[in-house]
Amino acid sequence: MKNSLKIFFIKGIPIQLHWTFLVFIAWVILMLVIAREPLNIAFVSIGELLAVFLCVLLHELGHALAAQFYQVPIREIQLLPIGGLTFFEKQPALPRQEIIISMAGPLVNVIIALLMIPLLPTGTVFWKLTEIAGNVHPANFFHFLYNINVILALLNLLPILPLDGGKILKGILALILKPSTAFRAILSISRVMSLVLTIVGLITGNLLLIIYGCFLLLMSTVEKNNYLLASLLRDETISDVISQDFKTIHAAATRQEILDTLCSDNDRYYVLTDNGEMIGVLDKETILRALMNREEKMVLKKLIIPDLSFLSADSKLTDVWSRLPARADLIMPVMTANKKMIGVTSRDHIISFLLNHAMTNQTKQAL
Ligand SMILES: [Zn+2]
Repeated sequence: MKNSLKIFFIKGIPIQLHWTFLVFIAWVILMLVIAREPLNIAFVSIGELLAVFLCVLLHELGHALAAQFYQVPIREIQLLPIGGLTFFEKQPALPRQEIIISMAGPLVNVIIALLMIPLLPTGTVFWKLTEIAGNVHPANFFHFLYNINVILALLNLLPILPLDGGKILKGILALILKPSTAFRAILSISRVMSLVLTIVGLITGNLLLIIYGCFLLLMSTVEKNNYLLASLLRDETISDVISQDFKTIHAAATRQEILDTLCSDNDRYYVLTDNGEMIGVLDKETILRALMNREEKMVLKKLIIPDLSFLSADSKLTDVWSRLPARADLIMPVMTANKKMIGVTSRDHIISFLLNHAMTNQTKQAL
């Protein structure tokens, strides 16, 4: 299922709006209507919301442009109500690059906050945020913008993975320690800091801080698993995990031919071909549903699983792992540089390859 909406491109980078962001905007508008806020206050509130959205986007663009400077391709920027995410096609090669790319986002917020200083009403202090945010007024707008950017910079600079501060510290540690030791150190620091946030939240009764601390604690386990996986996948390419065990259906196949193919095996997915060329992947369930509808002319091309791109045979597993579909058995066609399909792969194929690999290594060590 597509969970985000592409809104525009900036320097070739797709900017996606996650559906939860639209729900969040709708919720804010609903609250304003329920509270029967005057129109000018409602406009300022929505203006503040859009300003936060813009600052988060600029923060992510800071990361993206720094990454492009180091030739790290960007897949997309996704905007969620809790912040933004920049997805890289591959990880930065050197710790120094990771440090600079991670610093670029918070740096943008620091620059915006500095630009706001001359526009601030005199005598109002930064920590009166709730007062300012609660007292929505056009005169507070620049102060609100200043506060939001200081908070965005400070929150992102906490030394906790996967926040920018965590990545910066990981990069600095990797400059002086072995990569595995640096990772273990930043993982421990992240866990301690997340616990501290949760405990501070419990002591002060701040629910948001408790949720944020617990979320970051959970994320540290995700980061650990990703690191272990990345170290297992390090040198392998897609061509190492290709399977030839797949069935094809021709785009011009008749109903009877389709039925014969579906009944002859237990495969769940099929590769759709046309004149020897791969067009996409079909799900057995979708084909069966279309067959049951008894449409006059069944067009298989219309049943293709959407947004399923092919994989390049020479791509590194570490670079494509996060792009693989969530459905572990869903096959993805693998193509050579001259667009020739040479097989398929899936999360299941890759995991069994890794298990075999680990077992072979263990046997070698035992011998
Ligand atoms: Zn960031």
